[in-house]
Amino acid sequence: MSNLPSEPEFEQALHEITSTLEPLLQKKPEYRRALAVVQIPERVIQFRVSWERDDGSIAVNRGYRVQFNSALGPYKGGLRLHPTVNLSILKFLGFEQIFKNALTGLTMGGGKGGCDFDPKGKSDNEIRRFCYAFMQELSRHIGDNTDVPAGDIGTGGREIGYMFGAYKKLRNEFAGILTGKGGSWGGSFIRPEATGFGLVYYVTEMLKDLDNTDWVGKRVLISGSGNVAQYAALKVIELGGKVLTLSDSTGSLVATSEEGFSPEDISTIADIKLARKPLTAFEHNGRFTYHEGKRPWTLVDKADVALPSATQNEVDGAEAKALAKAGVRYVAEGSNMGCTQEAIDFFESTRAAVTSLDKKDNIVFYAPGKAANCGGVAVSGLEMAQNSQRLTWTPAEVDAKLKDIMVTCYKTCWETGTEFAQGGAVPSLVAGANIAGFIKVADAMRDQGEWW
Ligand code: NDP
Repeated sequence: MSNLPSEPEFEQALHEITSTLEPLLQKKPEYRRALAVVQIPERVIQFRVSWERDDGSIAVNRGYRVQFNSALGPYKGGLRLHPTVNLSILKFLGFEQIFKNALTGLTMGGGKGGCDFDPKGKSDNEIRRFCYAFMQELSRHIGDNTDVPAGDIGTGGREIGYMFGAYKKLRNEFAGILTGKGGSWGGSFIRPEATGFGLVYYVTEMLKDLDNTDWVGKRVLISGSGNVAQYAALKVIELGGKVLTLSDSTGSLVATSEEGFSPEDISTIADIKLARKPLTAFEHNGRFTYHEGKRPWTLVDKADVALPSATQNEVDGAEAKALAKAGVRYVAEGSNMGCTQEAIDFFESTRAAVTSLDKKDNIVFYAPGKAANCGGVAVSGLEMAQNSQRLTWTPAEVDAKLKDIMVTCYKTCWETGTEFAQGGAVPSLVAGANIAGFIKVADAMRDQGEWW
C-alpha cells in the first residue's frame, strides 16, 4: 500500500491516462519506465499568502505552483482562484496540462497553480491586494523562459493585470511572464475567446469528419457561464447552432423555445459574471426556466451536442446516460476532466460496442478536455511567441492559427486512436489524445536523459 496522502483528483487523472495507454505499453513496454517518471512533478511550490481586507484585518490563504514537466518548454498552465483549490486538484490539472500542451504542437511544458482564495464577495481593492500578495512569492519562481502562468477559474483579465503589475514592480522587468494580458501591454488578440472558440473548432472537425455535417440547427447544451462557456456559446450561435442551456454554481438556465440564447444574452450574462453575481440576476421575461442546484444534462429531452464548460467531474455516469437518451452524439469537454470516469466509461462503451463506423449512429463520441480545450493554452503559446518577437499579430492571423492547431489536434487524436484501436474497433479520441501526447513528452524526456 502506498504511504502517500490520498489525492483523489490526481489519482483519477492518472488512472484516466494510464488506462488508455495500455495498447501502447503492450507494444512498447519500455514506455512503462517513462510513465513512472512522468507522474512525479519536477517541483511543487507551496506558500503562504497573507493579504489585507478592506477593514484592515489580515486574511491568509494557501498558494501553490506545480511545475510538473519542462521536457517540451517552459512550464505553462493557469492559476485557479477558488476555495476548493488544493494540491490534489492542482496536480491533476498540471498533469493533464503536460499532454494538452504537447497536443498543441507548440513548445510548452506543463504546470498549474492557484490559491484557495475565494474572489466572490471581495471588493476590487481586496482582489488587487490579494494578487499583489500572491505574486510577491510566485514572482520568485516564474519567468518568460521558466514558467509562464495564465488564467483559469477565478483568474480573468483583471487578476492577470494586477499580478503582472505586481511582478513588474517587484522585478523592475517588463517581460512575458503571464499570458492573457491586456491588448496594449503584451496580450494577444483572441486569447479571451480562444478556449471556447477552439472547443467549437474541434467539434466542427468531429461533425465534419464523423457525420459529414455542421452546426446548423444543432441543439447544444453548455454548462458554466464563465470565460469558456461564453465564447463557446457565441461561436456555436455564429455557426448556426442553438445554445439551449448555461449554468453556474447555483443552478441552470434552460431555454423555453428553440431560439435559445442570443449573442446579446451572452453579453448580459458576461456582465453579470464580471460582477460575480449568480445567474438568477439574468432578466429574461420567461424565455428561460431556472433550475436551482441542477446541472443542465438531465433538463432537456432532445439535444445533439454537450459541451461541459464549468468545472471537473460535472457529468456523472447517470447524466452521461441521460445525454445519450436525449440523442446527444458529441460530448467535448471545455472544462478540464469535466466527465467522471463512469461517464467516460459509458461514452467509450457506446464506441466499443460498434465494430464499424457504418453503425456510428449509436456512438456518443467523447473528446477529452486535454484535446478539445487546448485552444486556450495554444493561443497563450502564440502570445509568448508574439512577446518574444515584440510584435502583435492581427485577430485574423491568430484565429487562423488557432483553427489550424485545433484541426491538427483532432487529426492527431483520430489518427493515433486509429493506429492503436484494438481488433478493428472504432478509434477512441481519448486514447488517441493520451497516447499522442504521452509519446511526444516521453520521447523528449528520454532525449534529455530523464529515463532510458
Ligand atoms: P470561469 O471562472 O470564467 O467560469 C467558471 C464557470 O464554472 C462559472 O460559471 C462558475 O460558476 C462555474 N463553476 C465553477 N466551479 C463550479 C462548481 N464547483 N460547480 C458548478 N459550477 C462551477 O472559468 P473558465 O471558464 O475559465 O474555466 C471553466 C473550465 O474550463 C475549468 O475547468 C477550467 O480549468 C477549464 N479551462 C479554462 C481555460 C481558459 O482559458 N480559461 C483553458 C482550458 C480549460 P459561478 O459563476 O457561480 O462561480
